[in-house]
Amino acid sequence: MEPDKMDENEWKYHGEGNKSLVVSHLSRVLRLLKYPAEDSENPPQTVEQAFRQIQNIVDFSSNVMSSLLGEKFIHSGEVVKLPLEFVRQLSIKVQHQRPAWRCDKVMDIYSGCALCLPNLTSPILHQPTHTPPLCIEIKPKCGFLPSSKHVSKDIKTKVCRFCMHQHYKVANGKWKRPSLYCPLDLFSGNRQRMHFAIRHLIEEPQNNFKIFKGGQCIYSSKEVSDDSMDLNSLLHHLRPYFLYGNNRINSHVTSKAVLNNFIQVLVNALLSGGGGEVETDTRGEGRSFCDASLFNKERISNGSQGLPGDSVLFRILQTQMLDTLDIEGLYPLYRRVEQHLQDFPKERTRLQMEGPYNEAFLEKLQKCPTEDDGSVEYAVAKVHQYRVAMTAKDCSIMVALVPSGEEEEDEEGPAALSYSVSILDLDPKPFDSIPSQLRLDQKIVSCYLKTGGALP
Ligand code: ATP
Ligand code: MG
Ligand code: MG
Repeated sequence: MEPDKMDENEWKYHGEGNKSLVVSHLSRVLRLLKYPAEDSENPPQTVEQAFRQIQNIVDFSSNVMSSLLGEKFIHSGEVVKLPLEFVRQLSIKVQHQRPAWRCDKVMDIYSGCALCLPNLTSPILHQPTHTPPLCIEIKPKCGFLPSSKHVSKDIKTKVCRFCMHQHYKVANGKWKRPSLYCPLDLFSGNRQRMHFAIRHLIEEPQNNFKIFKGGQCIYSSKEVSDDSMDLNSLLHHLRPYFLYGNNRINSHVTSKAVLNNFIQVLVNALLSGGGGEVETDTRGEGRSFCDASLFNKERISNGSQGLPGDSVLFRILQTQMLDTLDIEGLYPLYRRVEQHLQDFPKERTRLQMEGPYNEAFLEKLQKCPTEDDGSVEYAVAKVHQYRVAMTAKDCSIMVALVPSGEEEEDEEGPAALSYSVSILDLDPKPFDSIPSQLRLDQKIVSCYLKTGGALP
């Protein structure tokens, strides 16, 4: 990245989340911080603090999450300093493309700092293809039911957090329609359940599902972008990639077959590992069902397969499960740490509450005693584990499907698709956000109990 050669006209709006806004140019993206709009007049942090925040993201991703999730899935990127004039022009340029519901926050135009990452929707091709790569982004959310003895409401052990949260969001007008996606189905490792889960992601993508073609977002939540399309136009895009199988009527491949083929390829990619020996996780087999999922258990014809040990889903689930106590069991430990830090403010550094996210941090959370010995070290280790689990519950998976076997490509589309899988959005979650996590948990559960699981 050469700061003096930065031209805002080359960069285009790519997408955004709650914390950052992303612009892309060819094989790279810049991920910029966002602030609450109230703070737009004066920056909430100094340039040094912004730089540190982004460096922390890089360190957390490369030293902590990558070791837990598997290096092969992770691209941590690097912090870059950009000319302020470039950033200001960029912010003006992208403003009208931003979805209205995200505009409660503004892009950081003060620090000039950004995270530079490879553009995962525009993979570098060894051979140019005339069918562009297709990239699917899934934000899977939490894939297990808590089994902690600290859970006070039985419903939390029966209905998964995502499904309960859906009720809350629909009841509060965040989304018009509930998503029928259930993470427990996606993480089950059972192909039928995974297929079912992905079908519901397609039907109601919300912020859990997006499709990019040649680096452009072509399918996402209707509420996110007005020009995003319906299922029919999606099928039109997918058709050239998935024209195979026997499900033809008068040699015409039905839309149903195209969709099934697409979902099948995604399931394969999500279950694939990096090759080599595959150990299957049979412990989780068939154990996790969410009572709110509409998947009919009787439909399972070929048993539960469990997740292959080297699959992206297995690695994410394992990391999510570092939340062993549930927020209800974690909160008292958070309080213990907080009290300790009030009494001994200098301990904040030694205990690495705000980083640095290095090997010592990873060691703290991995060498946690199994029993609570009443120490602050135990509490800190559990808090660190919880925060890592939160990141894994909030990350996204990007599956890039690249046409291969180009020589055989004809008007029927590519002969084969090769896939690569990455994980993105691996920011550390702040220590201070734990109390609000507890409050949110209570609100979600009480809302669910009030409506008895029935949607308004
Ligand atoms: P969230 O609200 O989910 O926490 P966030 O604010 O942390 O989101 P990201 O999820 O990292 O931000 O980025 C927002 C969007 O930008 C992603 O959903 C994805 O579509 C896109 N994006 C982010 N990083 C990349 C990348 N390296 N390559 C391609 N697209 C990316
Ligand atoms: Mg995200
Ligand atoms: Mg994020």
